Amino acid sequence: MKVARLYSFNDIRIEDVPVPKPGPGEALIKTMACGICSGDVMPWYIEKKAPLVLGHEPSGEIVEMGSSLITRPSSLSVGERVFTHHHAPCLSCKYCKRGDFVQCSTWKSSRLIPGGVSEYILIPVINLENDTLVLPESLSFEDGTLIEPTACAVKGLRRAKMKQGDTVVVIGLGVMGMINLLLARAYGAGRVIGADMVKFRLDKALEFGADDVIDVAARDLREELQRITAGDMAELVIVGPNSADAMKQGLSCVRPGGQTLLFTPAKPGERLDLDPNWLYFNDINIITSYSCGPDDTREACRLIEKRIVSAGKLVTHRFPVEDTGEAFRLTAKAENSLKSLIVFS
Ligand SMILES: [Zn+2]
Ligand SMILES: [Zn+2]
Repeated sequence: MKVARLYSFNDIRIEDVPVPKPGPGEALIKTMACGICSGDVMPWYIEKKAPLVLGHEPSGEIVEMGSSLITRPSSLSVGERVFTHHHAPCLSCKYCKRGDFVQCSTWKSSRLIPGGVSEYILIPVINLENDTLVLPESLSFEDGTLIEPTACAVKGLRRAKMKQGDTVVVIGLGVMGMINLLLARAYGAGRVIGADMVKFRLDKALEFGADDVIDVAARDLREELQRITAGDMAELVIVGPNSADAMKQGLSCVRPGGQTLLFTPAKPGERLDLDPNWLYFNDINIITSYSCGPDDTREACRLIEKRIVSAGKLVTHRFPVEDTGEAFRLTAKAENSLKSLIVFS
């Protein structure tokens, strides 16, 4: 079977490897589609994991189940269409009990084999039992690839405790920014304002229901927000770009009592320099949100069933596995694209 393996940012190779054999309690899927994640195109993040088979947003069809003689019989069976999460928690440790699934050591060490951009994927027992979902009939395999990214936005918005009627600013309108925008709208935001420097993305944000957009290539974000909100600013600012500068900019857009959601990690070692006196007297909250757990993937699946998020809206490019390098470069460029998928025939 073909896999796309990344050795370094500019070196992605298509390799032929044996199809894995599912052991007891495991399943094998034939991959139908897999998203290229915007997080995977941060060189410092992905290269520390290299060499690795790219992709953690797959959907596919179960083609083989391992024996269930020594494990609990699975509720899943051959022929079912599924989304499977790359990481799954144990559901019993102290982190899992509080819902902090991504801090669970099982979550951190579990992974799909060999990775998402692979013609077949072996789903280990823990992933199969604790975070694999049967796709509802109305969801295509392409919709299924959006469950994990949507779940990350579900978790972020939950942690940020957005309230009905809030003014929400989304900085960075790549696919994750768009999902945050669509969800903020669906969860009852009063006003949603997008900011980016790419015209294609600003236009898409308006199409997806943003009330206003700010072209940060032409205008100062804070000044423009001040103007369009008559000085009110925003109760929630979601910062997509992975830099301390963007985070500072985000903080400058929050109104007293508001939240800044840091949606993407900055490079290790970057410093965010803040005035704690200003933070304190303005009751400004800084919230982070890393990845997602099984409660979030279920909610994401429901949101996709309601068509709040869909492949039709967000998938702009499709590539065969042989062209994974091109899909990766297009995602890294962050211009006239949103979601790029690798599709398998
Ligand atoms: Zn992802
Ligand atoms: Zn756990």
